[in-house]
Amino acid sequence: LRAGLVRSPRGFAASPASGQAAAEETHAFQAETRRLLDIVTNSLYTDKEVFVRELVSNASDALEKCRHDFMAKGEDPGELAVAIKVDSDKGTFVIEDNGLGMSKDDLASNLGTIARSGSKAFVDEIAGDAKDDKTAATSTAAANIIGKFGVGFYSAFMVSDKVDVYSCAGDGSAHRWSSAGDGSYTIAPCEVGDGDGQAPARGTRIVLHVKEQDKTLAAAEWAVESVLKKYSAFVGFPVTLNGKRT
Ligand code: ADP
Ligand code: MG
Repeated sequence: LRAGLVRSPRGFAASPASGQAAAEETHAFQAETRRLLDIVTNSLYTDKEVFVRELVSNASDALEKCRHDFMAKGEDPGELAVAIKVDSDKGTFVIEDNGLGMSKDDLASNLGTIARSGSKAFVDEIAGDAKDDKTAATSTAAANIIGKFGVGFYSAFMVSDKVDVYSCAGDGSAHRWSSAGDGSYTIAPCEVGDGDGQAPARGTRIVLHVKEQDKTLAAAEWAVESVLKKYSAFVGFPVTLNGKRT
């Protein structure tokens, strides 16, 4: 699987003739991130729905920062909102915000390393528990710890085979960060547009390719709607699901 990602058809196609593919870079996750991803994807079977809360809260943070930046310049950011679209046929969960966005460097440092204290505490605590726990027990411990700290963005991998993050930063540059949650991630320039495979003109679009066994949870409108009911009331921005206000 790992080799498959690193030597993807895109990677092999990286010849001078294909500009876009040639610009794709593959990076290894840092060891701690790999450890966290391994736990998230292989040991956590409960509370998978927290990924919705984590992604909505990140979108909301990005909108808040955007509002702040615009206000500091005395400008109007327009309507700031979170839009979620699920498609059970395609098996996708897409969340989009028109917030701050991320540059290429932001994508690498914010999504490639565990800079946040919560994730670090999670890994430390898990490492401590793993000393005396066997695998089965570790999964219970991990589930308890996830409730305490949350795993932030990486929770997306609890329900996804692959996660693509398309983002357009303030300087107008657009990039796609992509990972199967194994050892590495890729970053490449991408187009701006309204499609699932493009970055929004401002902000971030995250496409979760939902695992077959999690489709009824993460790619079904009614399921996502019921999870959103618990959280969206606490979000300071409008949240829509398949075009409807939640
Ligand atoms: P936390 O939110 O606690 O910082 P996360 O793992 O949830 O940790 O997210 C990691 C970082 O990735 C965030 O701090 C932020 O810099 C960046 N990020 C995640 N989602 C978005 C988004 N939708 N827009 C802009 N930046 C984002
Ligand atoms: Mg977060």
